[in-house]
Amino acid sequence: MPSGTVRTGTTVTAVTALAGGGFTIAVDGEDSGSIRADAVIMALPAHRAATLVSALPGGLDHVADGLATLQWASVAMVALGIDTDHLHHPLDASGYLVPVAERRTVTAASFASSKWAHLARPGRALLRVSAGHAGDDSALAMTDAELVAAIEADLADHLGLDAPAATARVTRWERALPQYRPGHLERARSWQHDVWSTHPGLWLTGASFEGLGIPACVRQATAAARRVAPISA
Ligand SMILES: Cc1cc2nc3c(=O)[nH]c(=O)nc-3n(C[C@H](O)[C@H](O)[C@H](O)COP(=O)(O)OP(=O)(O)OC[C@H]3O[C@@H](n4cnc5c(N)ncnc54)[C@H](O)[C@@H]3O)c2cc1C
Repeated sequence: MPSGTVRTGTTVTAVTALAGGGFTIAVDGEDSGSIRADAVIMALPAHRAATLVSALPGGLDHVADGLATLQWASVAMVALGIDTDHLHHPLDASGYLVPVAERRTVTAASFASSKWAHLARPGRALLRVSAGHAGDDSALAMTDAELVAAIEADLADHLGLDAPAATARVTRWERALPQYRPGHLERARSWQHDVWSTHPGLWLTGASFEGLGIPACVRQATAAARRVAPISA
């Protein structure tokens, strides 16, 4: 495969460590077949990495188990276009968070049209509202109409909304946010290092490990690339 090739629409179904070093990667999808690699960075959600790690030799069952049992929160994102006449709040902030103890559908609301000038329209506010938290997928189980109505009821209390939103778009993100419990960083690093010491050249990274925001993922990806670079040079 030429250097710099990117394949999309392709699922990795197995990674096999070769006796003399290096790996073969079995792929399914548009370009099914196998790829020979000097090094592999698995930038996958932990539960997907678990499937691949569990098939590797070398006593990595504890790593596969740890990856498979990491807990996740699912999130529904609802983008609402609201006529500002129907909001009794200046939206003079970037948004707000709602503690779980409040038992609301809304877990966070971002005032998108206040934060981003290109989203601002005269007389119309754009809000990005999230619903759902760890251990409670009830918001995701609602129909779109039920979810929007529940969010509008919360916004009536939070922002003085007094009419339905003019537009609403719902997107659902299953197992979207890994939940870090106390000791997660130590566990995640031990999984990474156990895999690397058993199969040098194979590194695990991504939101399941050392931070789930985009900047943290980029930082981890950069470190991962530096780690494998000497092997694949
Ligand atoms: C609704 C929502 C809003 C967010 N907003 C923000 C924000 O505003 N700012 C911020 O910093 N972060 C935000 N985050 C968090 C951040 O977007 C994620 O944590 C981050 O994108 C995760 O990146 P990742 O590369 O680890 O995983 P992913 O982006 O999940 O990438 C993993 C990829 O692996 C692929 N994959 C899985 N299995 C296989 C396989 N077997 N073979 C090949 N490919 C496979 C998947 O298709 C996917 O493309 C948000 C997250 C969500 C869900």
